[in-house]
Amino acid sequence: MHGRLTRGSLLKAAGAAAAAVGLGRLGDAEDSLASDSVSCVLTPEQTEGPYYIAKEKLRRNITDGRPGTPLTLRLTVVDARTCRPIRGATVDVWHCDASGIYSGFGAGRASRTFMRGIQRTNANGVATFKTVYPGWYQGRTVHIHVKVHVRGNVVHTSQLYFPDRVTDAAYRSAPYSARPNRDVRNADDTIFRNGGKRSLLGLRRSGAGYVGSIRMGVHRS
Ligand code: FE
Repeated sequence: MHGRLTRGSLLKAAGAAAAAVGLGRLGDAEDSLASDSVSCVLTPEQTEGPYYIAKEKLRRNITDGRPGTPLTLRLTVVDARTCRPIRGATVDVWHCDASGIYSGFGAGRASRTFMRGIQRTNANGVATFKTVYPGWYQGRTVHIHVKVHVRGNVVHTSQLYFPDRVTDAAYRSAPYSARPNRDVRNADDTIFRNGGKRSLLGLRRSGAGYVGSIRMGVHRS
């Protein structure tokens, strides 16, 4: 299950920074780096939930102009057996808007497209999206849903999470500040508890917003 590559070839393939991001077991990775090789880890599956809409638009900016703090997502797909990036995978993301609403449902039912979209991974296995920091809705911690297809098959369904202290800071700004007191944090979320730690985005500030990165290890079929 844990494919191995030499340190040199992995770093060439994925980039030194990317290699450190999203590895489920960083401790193991560090050990492996010390011995000049790296293990890849299969990223845990999590439920797609009730708000998936299939066949969304192939587009990078998924906001439809809705407000929020800018968030660039850099999602890297690698083969969990070999650690190699998978080129041409289809990555499908969906999340609620800054006020906690999903397009296609409830208060968002008039549109089926905002905060939903699809990108293909490039030669480095990276799919990039431009969106906004998600809001929250009752009963869940802050998350983004993700699905990865390779050659038409779904190979990964999961949810991406945010460090709570980053969300706390982000939510001090409008429009999030209009809805204080989110009710569930990561540690209290029943879905996060099943492997969510391994799907935490690495977040860094960038201009007026954030860049969120993760490496997802998947099986090709
Ligand atoms: Fe959700």
